[in-house]
Amino acid sequence: MAKALLILPHLPQPMGAPYLGQQYIAASLIAAGHEVKCLDLAAVRFTGSDDDAVREVERYAPDLVGMTLFTLNARRGYLLAERLRGASRLLVAGGPHPTVLPDEPLANGFDVSVAGEGERAIVAIAALLDRSGPSGPDAAAVAAGLGEIPGVRTASGHGPPGGVLDDLDALPYPLTSYPAFDASAYSADGLVVPGGMMTSRGCPARCTFCANYVTGRAYRFRSTADIIGEMVALAEHHGIMHFPFWDDAFTALRPRLNALCDAIDAEPALAGCTWTCITPGNMVRAHDLERMRAAGCVAINFGIESGDYNILKAIQKGQRPEHVRAAVRAAKQAGMVTIVNFMFGFPEEGVDELGRTLALMQELAPDTDYFNNRGVLMPFPGTAIYEANHERYGFSGWWLDPARIPDELDTRGLSSEAASALLERDPTLDQDFFRYSEPVREMIARCVRFKAQHNHGTIARMQQQYATPAV
Ligand code: SF4
Repeated sequence: MAKALLILPHLPQPMGAPYLGQQYIAASLIAAGHEVKCLDLAAVRFTGSDDDAVREVERYAPDLVGMTLFTLNARRGYLLAERLRGASRLLVAGGPHPTVLPDEPLANGFDVSVAGEGERAIVAIAALLDRSGPSGPDAAAVAAGLGEIPGVRTASGHGPPGGVLDDLDALPYPLTSYPAFDASAYSADGLVVPGGMMTSRGCPARCTFCANYVTGRAYRFRSTADIIGEMVALAEHHGIMHFPFWDDAFTALRPRLNALCDAIDAEPALAGCTWTCITPGNMVRAHDLERMRAAGCVAINFGIESGDYNILKAIQKGQRPEHVRAAVRAAKQAGMVTIVNFMFGFPEEGVDELGRTLALMQELAPDTDYFNNRGVLMPFPGTAIYEANHERYGFSGWWLDPARIPDELDTRGLSSEAASALLERDPTLDQDFFRYSEPVREMIARCVRFKAQHNHGTIARMQQQYATPAV
């Protein structure tokens, strides 16, 4: 058995639930017989600092420390890694950022970098440490073993490409990792670690701004029986009857969607359950939405991005404004809460294009409960937009510059007016990645404000609706 401490470094936006990717990593290690503890420095109720992580590594004395790195917390992870060097037998980086830039963590204090889906790699790494015995690793044997693990890279070489996981049913349910997390970091009662589920991995679409490179573009999905099994286990063992599905494109395959809705309806343990999902606006039809609502779907999150046909084409969104209108209206008519995502500041975008996006948002507003917050384009490494523009606009490696990381987005304890005011401004616009002209900048700011004010109106309406009537 090896001991692993999995850390999520601080992020600009607090996490209301443990990151599902880290839950899968922890569950895979536990299923393989290893001991795991998770420390979430980004959790919404975590009030400590990196010092707590350093102390926890000293106290827990793990064989390996694994860190999940996104682009927005990579620098924080590197600073922490420098402090943790030598405190465990291996310091391992995984997640979206090392998947794109596997050498960067190695140059910033990590021993090992894992690219892609990490479940198989982390179990192989832990097994290697376990086999090396209680008296400490045979460094040469560990180094040689690491060099053979698919998806793993070290300073002295790398294994073959990790590939994608085809049999998602073979993965343990993330709920088996719950004991490894401190539930009080997320909820006041400290009883249940809230979370969500993934019923598929990857996405059939090819949007040029999208950073979903860990699960990649190969779309794979779990069997209906496996999904229902996880939902029933969450209901029976944790009393959870609401299930946020975090898939990139939940409705991409209609036969699968219908089979899942039928299976939810047929399962007595799920009677009365509710769920939410995310999908692009062109991957769902009106009768799908009615079927989903009948099976408990209470809210749907649409990726729309632009109201301009040429921008949608340039970013390879694969949809037209008319798809979007039909989908959002049908979801509202089916009785769902609608969340609609728009983005601003694509390099091809001018005032006219942004005007069409603003017009579409205004048109959709009566059927939209919430728009996504802010939404100014951030060029993440590995995306087609980053690759095509970073040299031209001079933002190569921006995530290593602390001044480029957006301000904290923390609305805890704020009144709804104060939260709305915070969200009416997007600090990414100030970064000016694409050197916007003044008219474009003003139009983007107007679009961001429109969303924040609409959301504020929805929240105010709901507060009024659910206010206790005076007696
Ligand atoms: S549909 Fe969503 S998840 Fe899929 S490529 Fe586009 S932005 Fe990414």
